[in-house]
Amino acid sequence: MALYAELHRHLGGSVVPRVLWRYFQRHNAELISRFGEYAEFEDFYTRPRNTLDEYLELHTLVESVQTVETLPYFIYRLLRGAYIFENLAYLELRYTPYLRTPEHLSQGERIDKMAEIVDIVGKSSYVPDYPIVTSQILCMHSRLSFEVNKAIIDLAAQNRKYVCAIDVAGGDRYYDERMEEWISLYNYAHSLGINTTGHLYETKDGCYPELLPYLMRIGHGIQVPLLYPELLPEIARRGQCLEVCPTTYLKTGTLQDIRQLKLVFDRCFEAGVDIAICTDNAGLHNVRLPFEYENLLTYDIINFQQLQACQEAAFRHAFAWPHSQRPASLLTGLLR
Ligand SMILES: [Zn+2]
Repeated sequence: MALYAELHRHLGGSVVPRVLWRYFQRHNAELISRFGEYAEFEDFYTRPRNTLDEYLELHTLVESVQTVETLPYFIYRLLRGAYIFENLAYLELRYTPYLRTPEHLSQGERIDKMAEIVDIVGKSSYVPDYPIVTSQILCMHSRLSFEVNKAIIDLAAQNRKYVCAIDVAGGDRYYDERMEEWISLYNYAHSLGINTTGHLYETKDGCYPELLPYLMRIGHGIQVPLLYPELLPEIARRGQCLEVCPTTYLKTGTLQDIRQLKLVFDRCFEAGVDIAICTDNAGLHNVRLPFEYENLLTYDIINFQQLQACQEAAFRHAFAWPHSQRPASLLTGLLR
C-alpha cells in the first residue's frame, strides 16, 4: 500500500474551499455575502493569478481567520482530509506564526504570542482518529523585520518537539535588498542545529546562488534546472532536495504549461538531484497530493518508476520522519 509524505504545504493554503465556505457560513457570513453561491466562491478562491504577489494576497484572507481560537477547527479538517483522501503518513506543515497573532498588538507582544500558536498547531495536529506523523516548519517572511525573523528561529529552537525546520517565504523577489540579513539568519539557524529550507529559485526573480548553500532542501528551485542547470552538480553533491509543487507554477503565472516541468525532472534525474513532489497549497488549488502525482503521469512528465523515486525521496528528505524505512516497506509484509 502506498502512503505518502508531504514536505511542502502551507497552513494558510491548506484549507479546501468547501471547508472555508462552511466556516464563513457559520461564523462570518458577511465576508461571503458578495458570492451568490458556493461555486462562485470556489471559482474566486482557486482561479489562477497573474503573479506570485497576487497569489500570495489570497493567503491573507485565510490567515485572517486562522487565529488561536479557530486553528484547531481548520487543522482537524486538514488532517481528516489528508488521511482519508490523500493517504498521507507524514506531513510537514509550514506557516509564519507571527501572522497568526492579533494585528493590533505591538511587535514585541506579537512575538511573545507566537509560542502559543506553535503549541496550538502542535496539539491540534495530534488526532488519534487520523494518525499522521506531523511536524511544523516555521516560515520567516520576506516582509517581516530581522527581529521577528530571528525570534522565529529562536522559537523553532525552543520547540523541537513540534518544529522540525525553518523556511523563508513571502515572495522571493524581495530577498535581494536584505541578503546579508538572510545569510546571517540562516547561519544563526545552523548554529542552533535547526534544519533549513527556503523558497528559492521559484520565479525568475528569485534566483540567488549566494543563499543556496544554506538550505538543506530548496523550496521549489525549479529555475535551477530551467535556467541555471550548471548549478545542479553542486546541488547533487550537497544532497539538497527540490520541493517541486507542480500546480503552483500555473496558479502564479510562473509557467504557462505544466509540460514545461518535464525539463525540470529530466535535468534533475540526470544530475542525481532528488525531487519531492508536493502540493504547496492543496486547498487553495483544490488539488490534493495524489492528483499532483497523477497529473505528472498524465502529461508524460515522469513515468511510474520516476514517480516512485520521488515518493521515496520525500521520505528520505523528511526532517521528522521517525522510521528508517518508508511505510510501504513496513506494510508490505503485513499485507502479503
Ligand atoms: Zn510554498
